[in-house]
Amino acid sequence: MRVFGEQERLPLPERCFICETHPQREAGVLLVDTGLNFQPTAPNPLKGRKILCSRCVSEAANLLGFRTSEEVDEARDTLEAARRFLQPIQNTVQSLAKDIESRTEKLFNLPGFDSTETSPVVKEQKAKENAEDESA
Ligand SMILES: [Zn+2]
Repeated sequence: MRVFGEQERLPLPERCFICETHPQREAGVLLVDTGLNFQPTAPNPLKGRKILCSRCVSEAANLLGFRTSEEVDEARDTLEAARRFLQPIQNTVQSLAKDIESRTEKLFNLPGFDSTETSPVVKEQKAKENAEDESA
């Protein structure tokens, strides 16, 4: 496939295979040569080269969720700005997590500190386990 030049003469039937118009005369409309030919068995005004106009291609692309390169560039810029905004926050969170881990480790290593005796969660869990053992 290729795009026809503005001054290039179109092969017959000189029209878009989809909308069947002659869009070459309209400003800003590009035409794609599919390189394929339509060869109907009965007379048909579309007989000949299959050409697509940019209006039909754009409409189909929009329906399929494709975006223009400008929209993609804008989304890419937004994503990059969000990453730049997020990076220092992630750094701070990682730093705080390391600090908490370090302080927790120091706390658990204090002489005489027994986390199994002081944690109410562990005490509760042990009590449940003992109750289950007695009932079994
Ligand atoms: Zn068309």
